[in-house]
Amino acid sequence: MFLDHAMKKAEDFNEWYNEIVEKANLTDKRYPIKGMNVWTPYGWKMMQAIDSHIREEFDATNHQEVCFPLLIPEDQFAKEKEHIKGFDTEVFWVTHAGLNPLDVKLLLRPTSETAMYPMFAIWVRSHADLPLKAYQIVNTFRYETKQTRAFIRVREIHFFEAHTCHADFDDAERQVREDYEIMARLGKKWCIPYRLLKRTDWDKFPGASYTVGIDTVLPSGRSLQLGSIHQYRDNFSKPYDIMYEDEKGEHRYVHQTTYGMSERLLGAVVAIHGDDKGLVLPPDIATNQVVIVPVLAKGHSEKVTAAAKELYAEIRSSGVKIHLDDKDVRPGVKYYDWELKGVPLRLELGMKDIEKEKVTFVRRDTGVKSLHDRKHAVKEVKDMLSLISREMLGRAMKDMEANIVSVESLDTLPEKMLRAGWCGSEECGHEIEARSNRNILGTPIDGEEWKGACVICGKSTKTVVYLANAM
Ligand SMILES: [Zn+2]
Repeated sequence: MFLDHAMKKAEDFNEWYNEIVEKANLTDKRYPIKGMNVWTPYGWKMMQAIDSHIREEFDATNHQEVCFPLLIPEDQFAKEKEHIKGFDTEVFWVTHAGLNPLDVKLLLRPTSETAMYPMFAIWVRSHADLPLKAYQIVNTFRYETKQTRAFIRVREIHFFEAHTCHADFDDAERQVREDYEIMARLGKKWCIPYRLLKRTDWDKFPGASYTVGIDTVLPSGRSLQLGSIHQYRDNFSKPYDIMYEDEKGEHRYVHQTTYGMSERLLGAVVAIHGDDKGLVLPPDIATNQVVIVPVLAKGHSEKVTAAAKELYAEIRSSGVKIHLDDKDVRPGVKYYDWELKGVPLRLELGMKDIEKEKVTFVRRDTGVKSLHDRKHAVKEVKDMLSLISREMLGRAMKDMEANIVSVESLDTLPEKMLRAGWCGSEECGHEIEARSNRNILGTPIDGEEWKGACVICGKSTKTVVYLANAM
């Protein structure tokens, strides 16, 4: 079962991505609805690891996990005008109950603002109820019209969404900044670099005051949006009537934010770190962080097996996720299989290692082999896993920066993420998109230093925009 010659990441990234997802068995696309894939055990385990990191972060920042119904009545959905317009072409409708048409049509949530906010209007009474910080991890449904792709462009989406209500705009702004900090910690864990880019007014989330996209660049030079953070101000609280009584007894509308991410995070991990041999998993996401492969020799099998079991037990009890592969198969076949599955660290243990009281480590990310003292194995494994994690992030950041280039004109553009000067006018913005044949992702939220001219009108400007083609 050797990989096709066709599977070369550098030559055909999209094809490589599809193949790697299939060969590593992360999802099964054969379910008879396009864009609705089956999570297989290996892929689901990884998604669960990502979800557990998200839960840890949001629980630690005083968010409460909730779970809302999947169906939303049409009249609730229609309350915020921009919002319904934005999702018009994407929603799935439920029109019948049995044989009878429903009085009020129901839709499958594409996102849960309109499910949650009528309830928030009941829950929020006084300033003592604020801030209200809720999140859920559920599936959402959007009728994707572009070509579907596992984890990246699907119609049933494994989705995370946080929704918050605040006494005023400033407190909602504090929430947005907390969201940035949460993302920084998560990105580090997942070894995913990204940029926070404030979307243009014509590209913000339907109903939002402003939207910040969390964008990464894939090795193909195309961008992938990992999530988004929205400031709603009182755009939703007015139509949904979410009000509280302040200290003076006056009734005020809450200010709201949301933070959304999805299974694309797993797609990004696959796309950014994988290579021609298969997946390369960050240690924090890997189902098995370490695999032990005993190298059996004639006459010594029992001794090697016993030593491998002992090593396995010792490392496992330290909390490292480890697997002992004692199947009766040649080591080379096992190496190949675990490399395809992306296990960060392989330990080889043969008679020679045992005699010298050593263990051989082989890193998945670099392929580098090293010898380590058996008696310090637990510490050495842990140190190695954190080194792998740091270096994977470091390389991914370097690769991303290499895929971002600044341009002064829009003639002959490379397939990369581009930085260009923009005067800020909507007219020039549209012209930038038309001439470059790319989307404007937005302006960096931390105000990157930039001095230059608008690529369209030539006016001098301190504003830089990022442009890219999305994967
Ligand atoms: Zn301009």
